[in-house]
Amino acid sequence: MTHFTNKPKDSEISLTACHDCDLLFPMPHLQKGEKALCPRCGALVLERKSCSLDYPLALALTSLVLFIIANVNTLMKMNVGGRSESETIISGVNELYAQGYWEIAALVFIVSILAPLLKILCVFYVLMPLKFNIRLRYAKQAFRFYEILHPWAMTEVYMLGILVAIVKLADLATINTGIALYAFAALIPFMAATDSTLDDHEIWERLEPSD
Ligand SMILES: [Zn+2]
Repeated sequence: MTHFTNKPKDSEISLTACHDCDLLFPMPHLQKGEKALCPRCGALVLERKSCSLDYPLALALTSLVLFIIANVNTLMKMNVGGRSESETIISGVNELYAQGYWEIAALVFIVSILAPLLKILCVFYVLMPLKFNIRLRYAKQAFRFYEILHPWAMTEVYMLGILVAIVKLADLATINTGIALYAFAALIPFMAATDSTLDDHEIWERLEPSD
C-alpha cells in the first residue's frame, strides 16, 4: 500500500501519473511486495514484486536449457507410406523457405527461435551483472530491447500451430512426437514465469543511477 502518511524525503519521491484517471501524484519509494494505489480512483499504479533477481534468472536459465533441447532434438517423426521423416523446428523453417514461402519462413524463425532466444539472453545480460551490482555497457538498451521483443516471442502460437498440424496429419501419416515437442511446450510457462517474476521497475531503478 502507499505510504502517504509518512511524508517521504524529496530525494525519494517522483511524480507519477495514474494510468486510469491521469492524476499526477508523488510516488514514494516502495519496498518489495508493496503496492501503490491511486489516491483518487484507487487503481493499481505500481506493484513491486517480492521476488529477488534470483527468480527470473533461475527461470531464464531453465528456459535456455529447454530452448536448446527443443532446437537440437526431433519435434516429430512422420511416417507416410513407409517413408519416415524427422522434423525439427529449424527444418520446418527450411521447408517453408524451400517451398517459396520465405515471408512465412522468416516469421516462424523470428517468433519461434530468434525472439525467444534473444529475450532469454537479454535477461542474462541485464540481470546477471546487476546481481553483483555491476552495470554492463548497453544494459539499458538490452533491457529496452527485451521489452520490445515481448510481443514477438510467440512460442504459444507456434505450439498451437504444431498441435493443429499433428491433428490434421493424424489421418494421413503415423506421427511420433519427439522430446523437442515436450521441451517446447515446457518452455512456454517458464518464459511466462520469467516475465512475471521480473520487476521491471526495480531493474530500471538499478540501471538509471549511473547515468
Ligand atoms: Zn486514478
